[in-house]
Amino acid sequence: MTDVLSVASEIYPLIKTGGLADVAGALPAALSDHGVHMRTLVPGYRQVLDRIERGAVLAHFDDLFGGAARLIAGASDGLDLIVIEADHLYDRPGGPYSGPDGVDWPDNWRRFAALSWVAAEIARGLLDGYSPRIVHAHDWQAAMSAAYIAFGPPSDVKTVVTIHNLAFQGQFGADIFGQLRLPAGAFTMTGVEYYGGVGFLKGGLQCAHALTTVSPTYALEIRTPEFGMGLDGLLRARTDDLHGILNGIDTRAWDPSIDGALAKTFRADALKWRGENKTALLERFHLDDGEGPLFGIVSRLTWQKGIDLLAGAVDDLVAMGGRLCVLGTGEADLEQGLLAAQERHRGKVGVILGYDEGLSHLVQGGADAILIPSRFEPCGLTQLYGLRYGCVPVVAHTGGLADTVIDANEAAVAAGVATGVQFSPITGPALSDALRRTVKLYHDQKVWRRLQRCGMKSDVSWDASASRYADLYRGLLGGND
Ligand code: ADP
Repeated sequence: MTDVLSVASEIYPLIKTGGLADVAGALPAALSDHGVHMRTLVPGYRQVLDRIERGAVLAHFDDLFGGAARLIAGASDGLDLIVIEADHLYDRPGGPYSGPDGVDWPDNWRRFAALSWVAAEIARGLLDGYSPRIVHAHDWQAAMSAAYIAFGPPSDVKTVVTIHNLAFQGQFGADIFGQLRLPAGAFTMTGVEYYGGVGFLKGGLQCAHALTTVSPTYALEIRTPEFGMGLDGLLRARTDDLHGILNGIDTRAWDPSIDGALAKTFRADALKWRGENKTALLERFHLDDGEGPLFGIVSRLTWQKGIDLLAGAVDDLVAMGGRLCVLGTGEADLEQGLLAAQERHRGKVGVILGYDEGLSHLVQGGADAILIPSRFEPCGLTQLYGLRYGCVPVVAHTGGLADTVIDANEAAVAAGVATGVQFSPITGPALSDALRRTVKLYHDQKVWRRLQRCGMKSDVSWDASASRYADLYRGLLGGND
């Protein structure tokens, strides 16, 4: 078995703000069939410490970036965890990055430098009987692991940094550099220096042996100025080391034939049972029944997710005979825009502001189509859940959405391979056109059923992607493992 230490600032089911947690939570099991043993290093937030089964104390630190700390072995839901118990950094109310008021903690640089520094210490042999060959760091919060390893003593450990979303880069002022425990030589263009400050993701991308991101199309997009968010030059220079590997989903947690969150379970060959979920969903959102399709949204309500485009297209959607249910939380003005649409279209538009895992399953199992008008989308998971649940994805043509949905153009419908609807450019009028096409497809129930069934047959599991990660690790180790 190849030992890989995954380093992640969130992990499902312990703590989650987005897709990163799903990936960090699903990869270990997926990789175990491919000769990889993955342990995951995570911060000891309250939500994590409250839920794990505690194992041995593995190490002590007198001073982990400002306070005493220890590493404890932990287990939960089949995950093999190393948890950093450091109350001065992680024992706080709120989410992993911000307090209950939603404002980022001002010392996030310290909290996540500590996470990455500990990963590098483990790579250097801190723990008896555990020496990972690979450190696989996720996003800016963990990316500095690669910098700590690169600027530390010579090591055979190989590093991988995965970009889940280039929009979050962990940029801080130069004044923190002196407290990062890095040698002065790291504050250069080939290290962690970024436009005069310190870039955590930038440092990781510069120093890691291999880079990955979560879809082939996003891997291409981020090398362009339009999507590169200032890092496109670096990523172009590292083209040979950058791999696009699609996310899968946990097909046990997301299985419509056994899903306890549904009003009624169903299968591709018994789609009529889906109707009971639609009825339950209409009730939850106080919506009328009707002829047209019910569109669903499960999303962070942000500009990235195109929620402003959606708010602008709601009137069209209703005029076409569609209904809409939205589950999400996010930016206040976008939430207000959706609530205003709900007011305008009582019984046709329903909005639930909040985070509700169970209800997200019911949306996928009961809505006719899942709407994802993102301006950019590294991979996206909701379209994958939609495919698996016969909830036809209507998506912007970008990133992982482009890679996982086959547009129902005439040729694809005739060939019986279509699984959803894509639109481009990513604008309000193009979204309205896509809604129109979807409504038309829906009214041809034979074609619609075929779209649903074809989607339900798509492979959205981790199998193929886990095998690609395992190949990547073996390639880095020279094929000797
Ligand atoms: P991102 O990570 O950019 O937010 P993804 O599509 O990759 O987008 O992953 C989002 C994940 O969060 C999915 O598992 C989705 O179902 C879930 N999710 C988002 N908003 C909510 C919500 N309000 N309630 C329940 N689940 C949600």
